[in-house]
Amino acid sequence: MSSETLPAAGRYAPSPSGDLHFGNLRTALLAWLFARWSGRKFYLRVEDVDTQRSSLESAARQQEDLQAIGLDWDGEVLRQQDRSAAYEAALVRLPHYECYCSRKDIQEAARAPHAIPGQYPGTCRDLSDKEREAKRAELAAAGRVPALRLRADRDEYTVHDYHRGVYTDEVDDFILRRGGNANQHQDFAYNLAVVVDDAYQGVDQVVRGDDLLTSAPRQAYLAHLLGKAAAEYVHVPLVLNSDGRRLSKRDGAVTLRQLLETASVQQVVGQLAASLGLAGARSAEEILEGFDPARMGWDPVFWEPAGN
Ligand code: GLU
Repeated sequence: MSSETLPAAGRYAPSPSGDLHFGNLRTALLAWLFARWSGRKFYLRVEDVDTQRSSLESAARQQEDLQAIGLDWDGEVLRQQDRSAAYEAALVRLPHYECYCSRKDIQEAARAPHAIPGQYPGTCRDLSDKEREAKRAELAAAGRVPALRLRADRDEYTVHDYHRGVYTDEVDDFILRRGGNANQHQDFAYNLAVVVDDAYQGVDQVVRGDDLLTSAPRQAYLAHLLGKAAAEYVHVPLVLNSDGRRLSKRDGAVTLRQLLETASVQQVVGQLAASLGLAGARSAEEILEGFDPARMGWDPVFWEPAGN
């Protein structure tokens, strides 16, 4: 099926590496609100492409949490670990090369005078076939296989974000499939999986935390290389702790399950509603009734434990 024939859709795509906390719930709620408000389908995707840090048990708990706050989704939940064939099919269509660098090699190269922080310096990009053979053999002797990197033909790309407007950021030869132990499964990279899955599901509206804004140009560039339209991005402010850093489980009782030890689900939903300027709404449906993206606030949201 081509993406033109798929219904417009939004999605929430959590990595199943722990219980959802207040900040995750707010992002999930916003993804659901934007999709439902605009008449889109809404999908849930289990982003377990990182096999080391994911568990099915965690995915099941996250789904229970989302249902508990009143979110629903269309169709089956898509699981990235079932999608390797699709990622492989995309990978062979993308210009790429093997990278033999260790993390240490990259760190060292990043200290060179002209290195651009956070960008792969291109060490393995222009190796000759002979050099590749030698490096591949060296890795193989250590029981390892190389990573695969995109051969990017530009160094920046521009996307459109609902709140930020036109946003341009760097694109480099980022990883498409991880290297590692030759006896283990080689994980595809999140940046590849997310683009392939969004296209497959007809997702044309990506609502997620603004920590991923800087990844959007890379992802839109990949979509472009695969002949897919870029999504409309809606990067929403993360919930921050009192130090102004992203809320995390280290900040105390912040997961829904912990919150429900002392509060009712209506209270937690009420707190989510208040964080969206819709105090008084008692359910996700009531929040949806009052929701208007044009009137929502974009200032950072600070976590305040109930009772403070
Ligand atoms: N799986 C990512 C996360 O849990 C979200 C990716 C996305 O929404 O594009 O942070």
